[in-house]
Amino acid sequence: MSFPYEAPVSQSLFDRASAVTPGGVNSPVRAFRAVGGTPRFMVSGTGPYLTDADGREYVDLVCSWGPMILGHSHPEVIAAVQEAVARGTSFGTPGAGEVELAEEIVARIEPVEQVRLVSSGTEATMSAIRLARGFTGRPKVVKFAGCYHGHVDALLAAAGSGVATFGLPDTPGVTGAQAGDTIVLPYNDLEAVRAAFAAHPGEIACVITEASPGNMGVVPPLPGFNQGLKDLCAADGALYISDEVMTGFRVSKAGWYGIDGVRPDLMTFGKVMGGGFPAAAFGGRADVMAHLAPAGPVYQAGTLSGNPIATAAGVAQLRLLDDAAYEKVDAVSAELRGLVTAALAKEGVAHRLQVAGNMFSVFFTDAEVTDYDAAKAQESFRFTAFFHSMLEQGVYLPPSAFESWFVSTAHDTAAVERIAAALPAAARAAAGATA
Ligand code: PLP
Repeated sequence: MSFPYEAPVSQSLFDRASAVTPGGVNSPVRAFRAVGGTPRFMVSGTGPYLTDADGREYVDLVCSWGPMILGHSHPEVIAAVQEAVARGTSFGTPGAGEVELAEEIVARIEPVEQVRLVSSGTEATMSAIRLARGFTGRPKVVKFAGCYHGHVDALLAAAGSGVATFGLPDTPGVTGAQAGDTIVLPYNDLEAVRAAFAAHPGEIACVITEASPGNMGVVPPLPGFNQGLKDLCAADGALYISDEVMTGFRVSKAGWYGIDGVRPDLMTFGKVMGGGFPAAAFGGRADVMAHLAPAGPVYQAGTLSGNPIATAAGVAQLRLLDDAAYEKVDAVSAELRGLVTAALAKEGVAHRLQVAGNMFSVFFTDAEVTDYDAAKAQESFRFTAFFHSMLEQGVYLPPSAFESWFVSTAHDTAAVERIAAALPAAARAAAGATA
């Protein structure tokens, strides 16, 4: 496939980047390897738009992979950051901002009685698993194929996101010892979980799952799946960890918990709660969190944890996320879904739009997608054609068929109209694509 449109400044930045950084990027999916072509180097973002180094403007449907739920450069978030920056950038001591952010999280998400702030979702899941093992005294962790929990060694087996994009079964550099206590099961398969508990009684520290997976494309839990996980964990004395790094504060005020109400023992957060800065968290039952240093023996720490700029951005963003904000994001998401499916149907393109709250993605297949194998069976080559047509017309989609699309409160009528105008040609491109 050739790409008739040029991005010379991005290309030259990518060439320079490739000389000094492996693959030219600092996170693999950004390199466009799944779709080909030149990754766009962005220089600014305002509301629903991103502008690249060649001066082209795009409607952004990635939203920094979730965090920018208020759109880019929201004036109140920027003001909070500027005010915090003026007071200094890092103190290495406790600060009021961390208390405010922790209180905001605890107030919104009822199962979170205590929370610890970290700087990335990876740190959050890694620490939650360590805590679960420390609390239970057990070694094994159950995860699901296609779920991505960051690049934690023990959790990279059959992971989604970039690992799915590149079709890696797992990654070199993770030793058998690091992955040996990880049990990988098919998603949405409670029988497999039951069998794992039966095979390893008293050995499983926790089951970790994306609250509603978005890293193999959007594959929501089947009715009763999360509750079944919770019940099986409770019966065996294992902890149920719900990874809400992606869904937390995005799909509702209380994340996916606000939608399905299944009460986890521990939860992990990131993305939206940092307002575009590196802030993440894990939290849950107070008796479990009490095992964390310095209250308890399980060690966990971070030089920049609770950073004052990141917490100021996070607090400002969360306080703006009221019911009206979620209604707006939900409405934009629903409108877009209708437009996408109408455009693809008109061209006779087999597809399934899957939805979790306001997160959604398109699978180029007729079949319902309930697990990773089904996600991988889609006709990804159609996504490639669709993606490039949208990009050429100024709409920035996730550069992979295995990622959720994200919208924001800033996606107004003008932005939606621009997407609507781009869809017919993109649908035709998908229809005409060949493997
Ligand atoms: N957990 C989930 C569900 C995620 O989607 C991600 C990132 O996409 C992570 C964990 C890792 O977060 P981070 O990239 O901040 O390390």
